[in-house]
Amino acid sequence: MSDLEPGVIRKLDEVVVNRIAAGEIIQRPANALKELLENSLDAQSSHIQVQVKAGGLKLLQIQDNGTGIRKEDLGIVCERFTTSKLSKFEDLTHIATFGFRGEALASISHVAHLSIQTKTAKERCGYKATYADGKLQGQPKPCAGNQGTIISIEDLFYNMPQRRQALRSPAEEFQKLSEVLARYAVHNPRVGFTLRKQGEAQPSLRTPVDSSRSENIRIIYGAAISKELLEFSHRDEVFKFDAECLVTQVNYSAKKSQMLLFINHRLVESTSLKTAVESVYSTYLPRGQHPFIYMSLTLPAQNVDVNVHPTKHEVHFLYQDEIVERLKEQLEARLLGSNSTRTFYKQLRLPGAPDLDETQPGDKTQRIYPKELVRTDASEQKLEKFFTSLVKSDSGISSTSSEGAPPLPEESFRQTAARKSREVRLSSVLDMRQRVERNCSVQLRGILKNLVYVGCVDERRALFQYETHLYLCNTRAFAEELFYQRLLYEFQNCPEISLNPPLSVQELIMLALESEAAGWTPEDGPKKELAESAVEILQQKAPIMREYFSLRISDDGLLESLPTLVPQHQPNVAHLPVYLLRLATEVDWEEEVRCFKTFCRETARFYSQMECQSGSMSGHPRWIMEHVLFPAFKKYLLPPPRLKEQIYELTNLPTLYKVFERC
Ligand code: ADP
Ligand code: MG
Repeated sequence: MSDLEPGVIRKLDEVVVNRIAAGEIIQRPANALKELLENSLDAQSSHIQVQVKAGGLKLLQIQDNGTGIRKEDLGIVCERFTTSKLSKFEDLTHIATFGFRGEALASISHVAHLSIQTKTAKERCGYKATYADGKLQGQPKPCAGNQGTIISIEDLFYNMPQRRQALRSPAEEFQKLSEVLARYAVHNPRVGFTLRKQGEAQPSLRTPVDSSRSENIRIIYGAAISKELLEFSHRDEVFKFDAECLVTQVNYSAKKSQMLLFINHRLVESTSLKTAVESVYSTYLPRGQHPFIYMSLTLPAQNVDVNVHPTKHEVHFLYQDEIVERLKEQLEARLLGSNSTRTFYKQLRLPGAPDLDETQPGDKTQRIYPKELVRTDASEQKLEKFFTSLVKSDSGISSTSSEGAPPLPEESFRQTAARKSREVRLSSVLDMRQRVERNCSVQLRGILKNLVYVGCVDERRALFQYETHLYLCNTRAFAEELFYQRLLYEFQNCPEISLNPPLSVQELIMLALESEAAGWTPEDGPKKELAESAVEILQQKAPIMREYFSLRISDDGLLESLPTLVPQHQPNVAHLPVYLLRLATEVDWEEEVRCFKTFCRETARFYSQMECQSGSMSGHPRWIMEHVLFPAFKKYLLPPPRLKEQIYELTNLPTLYKVFERC
């Protein structure tokens, strides 16, 4: 055994290492072209011409009229990690130009013959330089020329025969080159692009300077696509991104899926976004048919991780799931917004397929109140008596949805046409939503999204883990904010929980006045009179509550329904009497914004109360906390910064390690 010799470890020759690394980045001519286009665009060119020979394998040349490269920089442009776009590490997070690793030219020079001819505005003449393995060969030679840069790449992979063999035919490589160029041309309509095969008189592709995106789509992809385009943009305050989109309506479909995606002006791919977009269209398009999609997203640069893949194609970004979800909602809403398309869509459907306009509202009704809950919660004798009718009745409180199915847990804020939701136009409500969105703490949102539920302490508190920390949180405060927000987002569209049998508002208010919580004193006047005037107020305001919040009070003073704010959740009826009393006394019914605000606050308060007066906690609230509230926090809640105060760190792993090390 001992005569087995260990292998000798040798440091790989640096040139070989560089070549291997370069081969990872530049896998085919199209990768090189992408890098070169980005460089030319970074250099503020308005005209970019590309010439190729043999699919870019013999020659790939790009000429621009940008800033040019300074003579003194020519010596180092092709060394690894040289870039004019990044001087210190922190810049990585601010950089707005495309490539920022300073690796493209270096990589290319390791796998091809590279030459650069360039002239800046300041210099009297241009210079030409050639490179090999990252190094300048000889001195730059003066030459005549216009301002800008010509980069020529010859004999790509001449020193990597295997890579070269693995490539497709020149025709296929040319196809890939023109795809890349076409996409950059659509994204940069102000810049004129030309792609030419050497020796051919006509360019294969050309876009004019100062064009528009849709015009460039028409020139490159054809009128069949460009005339079906739907253009929209979306600015998201919560996740801080801008989207500009040009997508085909559902009239158009093609065998080949086309998705042009730019994130912070770099051509990228995002599998999750693509899947989401395709899933929206799959409802409308015949099987196997696809849309044409152009999307440009701008996110805070520090949120994008473009360097995960050596060729920098597949990106990941912070809040990816949420952003994808938002875009999906936007797309869905826009597609449904165009009527012409919808009628046509009907004709397009294959026989037997369900018709969108008649989508059955799912017959998912909400679970009825578990009887034990009603019984334990209504501990006060009077309440208990009051609710005996409820408990006895077989159905208890059952819920039906007047607007179709309650949102499935997977669907967040969306108000899709399938639910036949009503569009909210009241600026007061839209403003309130916006305030919620603007006030959302991105940090807290991140915690909510990724936390792991550990357990429930009591009706107001729960434990959760986030990263290596264990936290205790005030669930009541979170729930209250959640319900407040749900009221705003489900405004006019809340499914109903119907009360069966309906309850007399007058009797409920009398119960409330008798409870300690109401704080009645003899000075307030006789309870009966108070109750009567409260009922009068509520009946007067019944249309508002019915119309906007699905809270129905009949003409003869019976409470018939309450809103469903989170699927599977119903408020604790024990608190219903006080809630109604407070609606009469605490809501400012006079002024619109104040009215919505106070109504939503009171309702949120009621919905977030989980405790039973008996003090004991039945199994149900535990279940609700884990399976209803926490998932809803994760899904819907846009937490304001003040909720940070409702979270306490109990311990964390590093601290625990220290403790146990000592033992
Ligand atoms: P990066 O783009 O990440 O900086 P590159 O290797 O692609 O790295 O380019 C290195 C440097 O060469 C750039 O930072 C830029 O200063 C210069 N450069 C490359 N191409 C051009 C061009 N077409 N016009 C002007 N400068 C260029
Ligand atoms: Mg670059």
